Amino acid sequence: MKNGFMINACAKINLFLDIVSCRADGYHQLNSVMQQISLADRLCVTVGASNEDVVLYVDGTRVENPEKNLVWRGADAFFSAVGERRGLTVHLEKNIPMQAGLGGGSADCAAILHGLNCVWGSPLSSDQLCKIGASLGADVPFCLRGGTLRAEGIGEVLSPLPAMPDCFILVAMGKETMPTPLAFAQLDQMYDRFRERKPRDTDYHSVCRALENGALCALGDGMYNIFEDAVFAQHPVLRERVELLQNMGVAGARMSGSGAAVFGLFDDGKEAEKAAEEMRRRGCGAWICRPLRRIPDPICVKT
Ligand code: C5P
Repeated sequence: MKNGFMINACAKINLFLDIVSCRADGYHQLNSVMQQISLADRLCVTVGASNEDVVLYVDGTRVENPEKNLVWRGADAFFSAVGERRGLTVHLEKNIPMQAGLGGGSADCAAILHGLNCVWGSPLSSDQLCKIGASLGADVPFCLRGGTLRAEGIGEVLSPLPAMPDCFILVAMGKETMPTPLAFAQLDQMYDRFRERKPRDTDYHSVCRALENGALCALGDGMYNIFEDAVFAQHPVLRERVELLQNMGVAGARMSGSGAAVFGLFDDGKEAEKAAEEMRRRGCGAWICRPLRRIPDPICVKT
């Protein structure tokens, strides 16, 4: 009999995303409100013996060089930190679209770190896990904590915010993609590396107030994403998609992260379903999900 676990790796959206400055090393200081959502990849993990490798399958196909994958790197970093190495077979079912600004790779990384830590009896504190996560990707610390958080620094400085009001979140993704480094580079050009631009603090405060009041419409009104400036210029269809959602009974609609997924917040599930149908009719993938309050725990299984 072998031990193992299943865990959901949950995506994120940005309810607010602004760039405060550009650091000398090219990384950007952010001010962001991040929300974990129920759209999730699923990891099924079997724990093997100490002389075995970490073997990764994505949607049933074995990954030949798994060392680049954030799941493999998360497992490797966990084993280094606890000073014990075991083989793992990980089956990753991908449901979160890639290059979408939904943090899919970071979510997978956070899920393997959190899952292994739970199954090992929590040898690492939450702060230790986040430190490891930050070394693997800027969004991993958020994915480890989940819920509704403000992210500053390059994304790793997290502070609590009131939970987002419950609602239906429609996420839509077409064929367009946008590599994150390119989106940052285009914004650097547009805003002269953020030497003069003033951050959108008023909008940030209105999003915070809406969260404090549990006011979905005010939240939708205050949402902002600076990446739309660069990405909509490259893919005008994304602006059309957001505007279409804005005419379909949403509390608010925006692009997530550096794109190219867009999302709309609905308080009515039927309206969300109607909008999802329209998105699918236009060739997009469309998913209706809910806001989450924290990262889900693993479910232990014996195989
Ligand atoms: O950390 P992650 O691998 O997700 O970042 C991808 C790329 O996005 C980085 O190589 C960097 O070019 C850019 N980035 C940035 N500022 C951040 C986060 C990411 O410039 N705060």
